Amino acid sequence: GFGQSPFPVPDPIVKALQLHAEKKKYLPVAGLPELQRAVAQYHQRTQQIEIEEQHVLIGPGSKELMFLLQLAYYGNVIVPTPAWVSYIPQAKIIGKQIHTLPTKHKNNYLLDAETLEEFCKNDPKRPRIVILNYPSNPTGKTYNETQLKDLAQVARAHNLLILSDEIYGQLHYEGAHLSIAKYYPEGTIISSGLSKWCGAGGWRLGTFLFPPNLYWLFDAMAATASETFTSTSTPIQYAAITAYTPNDFIDRYLMNARRILQAIGTWTAKQFQNTGAHCLSPNAAFYVFPDFTSLDNVLKKRNITTSQEFCDQLFKDTHVAVLPGSYFGQDPSEISVRLAFVDFDGKKALEALPEGPVEESFLRQYCNQTLQGVESFCDWINH
Ligand code: PLP
Repeated sequence: GFGQSPFPVPDPIVKALQLHAEKKKYLPVAGLPELQRAVAQYHQRTQQIEIEEQHVLIGPGSKELMFLLQLAYYGNVIVPTPAWVSYIPQAKIIGKQIHTLPTKHKNNYLLDAETLEEFCKNDPKRPRIVILNYPSNPTGKTYNETQLKDLAQVARAHNLLILSDEIYGQLHYEGAHLSIAKYYPEGTIISSGLSKWCGAGGWRLGTFLFPPNLYWLFDAMAATASETFTSTSTPIQYAAITAYTPNDFIDRYLMNARRILQAIGTWTAKQFQNTGAHCLSPNAAFYVFPDFTSLDNVLKKRNITTSQEFCDQLFKDTHVAVLPGSYFGQDPSEISVRLAFVDFDGKKALEALPEGPVEESFLRQYCNQTLQGVESFCDWINH
């Protein structure tokens, strides 16, 4: 049910935390300067994105930074759906106007430029934040270069602020994550952090990267941060420098984590496709988003007419926990769910991973709880 990395925090980063556990002073509100530099250099090295180090904002999780951004920026919030569960509640807490832009299964649940243009042209000068999350939670799908360029063109024409939530970027199975900041640098804030690729959700470290013409927004957010969280945990920031500094161990860890996730994701999507559901094979992260609406005749006989009823009954009958599509902004009558394929010991799996293709026999041995969960789920559908 819960979207948490199954893998441990890489050893060199844990060691760095041990080394710095005694550091106790508050740090500057925007972050530890050495960490700001390491994060800026990391994005330059891995994606050729130029960010001034003093305009990297470090926060206690990217979620907190997103909240502060919505507080600091006056625009309406535009969210393509299905979308991660917290964007809309955050906007509601702050009292912002929210518009959802539904996407389609046949478009891989990605926002297309025409839809965005169509929406913006009604009131072309209105200030807006568009939240783009790719690779996506809940679908595991992501944009290609052409799609990002097309979206960038619309964003530029309407002066949109793009909050680019790239927290799963490093978990792209081919290591081929691409940011819209490449094509629309002047209006994009890149949101990321340690939570997913470093298995460090509970460490609470998020990053926002600002381009020069949004420095005023960086300052507004830093001012708000100063009155709320003051600064992010000092030992964690010191440890995070290691995460963003070139390191063979961490590179290998990440490559192997991706190989395991790709094998489970591909296998899982196939099982759901075999039930007759629509299920896209993910390109990144640890989620699939199957849609069982085409089986609604069978489901109606079991008194299931909404994704929530589907999840409740599935949990009762099989003890498999998934989240209803309605939590992600889908119509309640669409029987879609998000499954997180993370219920296995990632440390053991990484230690045992052989070279070459990741076979089903490996998954059976090291990720069996997840496989069994998916199989119980599919049996439940079929009977
Ligand atoms: N964005 C997405 C799409 C997520 O799935 C999550 C965590 O589940 C977050 C942001 C929050 O990450 P953080 O731990 O940096 O607050």
